[in-house]
Amino acid sequence: MSRDFADRLSAIAPSATLAMAAKAAKLRSEGHKVYPFSVGEPDFDTPAHIRDAAKAALDRGATRYTPVTGTPELKAAICTSTEKYRGHKVEPAQIVVSSGAKHALFNLALALYQPGDEVLIPSPFWVSYPEQVRMVGATPVIVPTREQDGFRLRPEVLQDALSPRTKAIILCTPSNPTGAAYSKKDLLPLLEVLRKTDVYIIVDEIYADLVYDGFVHASLPSFASEFRDRTIIVDGVSKTFAMTGWRIGWTITSNSLAKAIDIVQSQSTTNAAAISQAAAVAALNGPRAELEVMRRHFSERRVVMVEGLRSLPGVSCRMPEGAFYAFPDVRGLFGKKHRGVELVTDHDVANWLLDEVHVASVAGEPFGAPGYLRFSYACAECDIREALDNMRNAIARLD
Ligand code: PMP
Ligand code: GLU
Repeated sequence: MSRDFADRLSAIAPSATLAMAAKAAKLRSEGHKVYPFSVGEPDFDTPAHIRDAAKAALDRGATRYTPVTGTPELKAAICTSTEKYRGHKVEPAQIVVSSGAKHALFNLALALYQPGDEVLIPSPFWVSYPEQVRMVGATPVIVPTREQDGFRLRPEVLQDALSPRTKAIILCTPSNPTGAAYSKKDLLPLLEVLRKTDVYIIVDEIYADLVYDGFVHASLPSFASEFRDRTIIVDGVSKTFAMTGWRIGWTITSNSLAKAIDIVQSQSTTNAAAISQAAAVAALNGPRAELEVMRRHFSERRVVMVEGLRSLPGVSCRMPEGAFYAFPDVRGLFGKKHRGVELVTDHDVANWLLDEVHVASVAGEPFGAPGYLRFSYACAECDIREALDNMRNAIARLD
């Protein structure tokens, strides 16, 4: 790093998910078929009625600045869909629309954390959570979960991690990278612990619509109204509506925190793209039949991916409740050798799979879970089956 660059960068890791996606893209540009399990984004196109709404908005003149915190139409659509699909009433003044949920989280970091603050992050975690906390000079405190507990935080572990400096906790349900989700019953004991504190509870619900086998997503404000003022919901259209490139996400907070985030955003990015906001209105207000088709595809691919991974020697894998990630334990492959070189870490396994059979996954270590790999199964089922066969053959060739 150049000494001219800000000190804060020396503590920040680049996004491992995006780095692996870039490596895979390079191989692809060299003419190789690459199995795309690294970046977490739906392979489906944004539904046609959403694209049509964006074209119409463009022709109507949605080409100018909008209010910083989002158009009244989008905020109204967020209020309606939050009440209908998450079960709680919110007001437009609680919402700030940003350029994706990642940006919404970063705004939050700028508005809420400062040096000396600790932010609890259960591991495995999405790679950007700790880095964003570090970027604003606060301290991420990683709180471990165990696979045998379904990767869900135990209340006694939460209790032990709390300190007078704890400012917030970031929960992600369903989780990136594990796909694990908290039911209402799982959340209540954690709330019991948090009740005695004034810690902000940030819940990233970006995968809430992608749950399987009848799992019911429990949005915290729908049943824990006494925590309302310090609950922060992060949501967006990227995953549910296959709209990753449109860059629309939002926070739902107390009115006063929304005002603080408004200030941050007014001095940085102004508003999320006007056309994207119009598209998001159509997404939230429009028909959901196509979403259900996508969700069913994810559900089927999940079973193919997880059962396939489980059948590989040296690999075990939990069946996730939601999102589109499988998170296998690959420690059974450690100690095996590929052309005389021993596989020692999850990075070794991920790199070997990419080099040997062009299977792009992400090592677990950047998610706080060494020994695991993350596979996004948001891609064609035939690719999943083919990749699993190739992985089986590659494992058989190890010494
Ligand atoms: N939170 C989680 C858990 C995610 O996986 C993602 C996807 N990158 C985001 C937030 C950010 O989503 P967006 O594309 O809306 O920035
Ligand atoms: N959330 C996705 C992932 O984890 C997209 C990439 C990113 O923003 O990190 O792969």
